[in-house]
Amino acid sequence: MSDSEAERAERAAFILGLRRRGIRDLAVLRALELVPRALFVDPTLRRHAYEDVALPIACGQTMSQPSLVAIMTEALALNAEHTVLEIGTGSGYQAAVLSHLASQVVTMDRYRALVSEAQVRFKVLGLRNVAAFVGDGMAGLPGRGPYDRIMVTAATPEVPPVLVDQLKPGGILVAPIGEPQQVQTLRKFTKTPEGLAAADLMPVRFVPLISGVAVTS
Ligand code: SAH
Repeated sequence: MSDSEAERAERAAFILGLRRRGIRDLAVLRALELVPRALFVDPTLRRHAYEDVALPIACGQTMSQPSLVAIMTEALALNAEHTVLEIGTGSGYQAAVLSHLASQVVTMDRYRALVSEAQVRFKVLGLRNVAAFVGDGMAGLPGRGPYDRIMVTAATPEVPPVLVDQLKPGGILVAPIGEPQQVQTLRKFTKTPEGLAAADLMPVRFVPLISGVAVTS
């Protein structure tokens, strides 16, 4: 079997595994099928690329396990007209998945090194509707908003109010809410005229949302 055939088989098994874990949204499954996770993981961890595990990435950060990426993507209830803001580019994997379901994806990270690597991956994959920026996600990116959807992929005790300002009325924001180094709750917020309506989805563990752009890289 050639490498690409082996990888195709691996990815087919990967999608079956996600279905078994309860991911039912066919558009979301298709989006995960379209993104080669192997391209986003450290080469030394390549053999784990299609396992349902979180993996360490550069700058001491972590990419989520694929079933959680799928659950968070499902929670955004995306359509092809949506503009999405992701806070926490990391490897770029989640943004690449979103790019197959939304019109535009804007993603930002406080580490320049992570953003640069993710930009290369988006280019290799020909994903023209993803734009990655270095910046403090706690301030969001008002110039590109307002957004139909916002996904925060780092833990925060509360949703930064500026992100709510950058969300369109009726928009959905998904974020892990809680203290760092503890179990957080993945929550889905809908922006209503009365404020945010919240629903708890599941317990999760994320690296923390840290204010300011990283100085080292
Ligand atoms: N979504 C990523 C994983 C994110 S890990 C993926 O698919 O690989 C969380 C990321 O949030 C880290 O890369 C971290 O640098 C970033 N982060 C933490 N605080 C931030 C902030 N204030 N602004 C932007 N990014 C932040």
